[in-house]
Amino acid sequence: MAPPREPPHTRIGDFTRAPFLVIWEVTRACALACVHCRADAIPRRDSRELTTEEGYRLLDRVRAFGDPPPLFVLTGGDPMRRPDLARLVGYGSELGLTVALTPSGTAAATRARLAELQQAGLSRVAVSLDGPTPETHDAFRRVRGSYGWTMRIIDAAVDLGLPLQINSTVSRMTLPYLSEMTERVSELPIALWALFFLIQTGRGAALEEVTAEECERVLTDLYELSLRVPFGIKTTEAPQFHRVIWTREHTRAAADTASSAPARRPQLRSPRAVTDGNGFVFVDHVGNICPSGFLPLPRGNVRTADLCEVYRADEVFRRLRDPDALLGKCRRCRFRGICGGSRARAYAATGDVMAADPLCVYEPGPAIEPMIPLTTPSSL
Ligand code: SF4
Repeated sequence: MAPPREPPHTRIGDFTRAPFLVIWEVTRACALACVHCRADAIPRRDSRELTTEEGYRLLDRVRAFGDPPPLFVLTGGDPMRRPDLARLVGYGSELGLTVALTPSGTAAATRARLAELQQAGLSRVAVSLDGPTPETHDAFRRVRGSYGWTMRIIDAAVDLGLPLQINSTVSRMTLPYLSEMTERVSELPIALWALFFLIQTGRGAALEEVTAEECERVLTDLYELSLRVPFGIKTTEAPQFHRVIWTREHTRAAADTASSAPARRPQLRSPRAVTDGNGFVFVDHVGNICPSGFLPLPRGNVRTADLCEVYRADEVFRRLRDPDALLGKCRRCRFRGICGGSRARAYAATGDVMAADPLCVYEPGPAIEPMIPLTTPSSL
């Protein structure tokens, strides 16, 4: 029997009752050995992974968050390593969830397999592209041929009419190729370009982040790009993008009043950043409930605890959503309600989840600034 649903949960941007995004790491098994891997992926499946039945119960609880349901993403490792993947997609889709998948760039993601998943109700495929050429991408992924497999997945998704998302990592290693990447990505018929700003955790601990100044330049370029391209752009672990958007949009608003031409607006999925534990919840391969995959602080396990309850009531999750609990300059910053900084980066850098995000150039004054109000995407 279907679990009881709760009443509609959120006004826009209110993440206290339900996340915007739930990600389930169905396995850690993966044939790749990427330089940055958050999951420290392993060659074989872990015998402690959630079973198919446990996966169904997890999906029930994702749906129990209410309407509109969170977006649901199956990730890994390589989710293609799960033979029950189509059943899990089918179950989630029948519950009314929008189910997306992030296959690794390997031979396992064949066109036939993607077609089977589409038939089961898959809504979107997200693939990682971390370099504009085979050499740069494969060097980052540390597997020769990965670029070719990734292109094969992209071609299959386009051919099947499956909406496509490209995920790219921003780090010192990929920064030199970012403008070439922008051109490459802009040639593809994608729905969304998602840029992951490196967190030094898992195997990524050995890589270098960009500096705060470089981050600002990338975010500004992304804002300009968002005005020219037909696809959406989002950042993960760089919620400062919302500060950049807010600032640029308010500068433009003044110019627009003097002009009758309708201005292009960036496509925003949420008026504020979706960050660790704040609009976002991650379930790892053995069922641990974490604020995100980059913030590995288990706050319960779906085998023994209720996902909705942990997300809403757990003390760490609540703190992560409380702008008044922030520390350092993030606490004083007027953008703390729409940005709040990357809690995963603060934790990786200082051991304190509420510390200031070091990857930000904004410097508030010594006193606490009044918080700017939330703006809906349509009013931007
Ligand atoms: S100071 Fe913190 S809250 Fe303010 S924009 Fe920077 S990262 Fe965001």
